[in-house]
Amino acid sequence: MSDENLSTLQPVRAGLLADDTAPPGSTTALLASRCEACDLVAFPKREHCERCGGDVEPIALSTRATLIAHTEVIHPPPDAKVEVPYGVGLVRFPEGISILGLLDDALRQEVTVGIEVETFSHEAFEGGLTYGYRRAGAD
Ligand SMILES: [Zn+2]
Repeated sequence: MSDENLSTLQPVRAGLLADDTAPPGSTTALLASRCEACDLVAFPKREHCERCGGDVEPIALSTRATLIAHTEVIHPPPDAKVEVPYGVGLVRFPEGISILGLLDDALRQEVTVGIEVETFSHEAFEGGLTYGYRRAGAD
């Protein structure tokens, strides 16, 4: 992808990826936070712990995790930017948090609960950068 294309890409929401400048398609960690008092992990990163109010530190989650549930979206919600059909998966990270996210098309078409997936920088619609899940080792 050219530099010109990269400059038009905007994160759907700032701070989801540990590296917001990661080019689309690259394996990228999600940016979460961990409470320094009670160890609660939250995504997206919080300013304070939502359980105990304690201070948090930013952490990059593991890039590999386990798919524990999935579905396919065939009817777009209002104002949707991602074209249907698309896959959504719930992924359990080693840090003890489960996070919903988009599946890449290859994973959507051969999806199985229990497989290892990796997080990547996903251009989910033209100009819109977010995170997604794909089969581990796919890049
Ligand atoms: Zn806490």
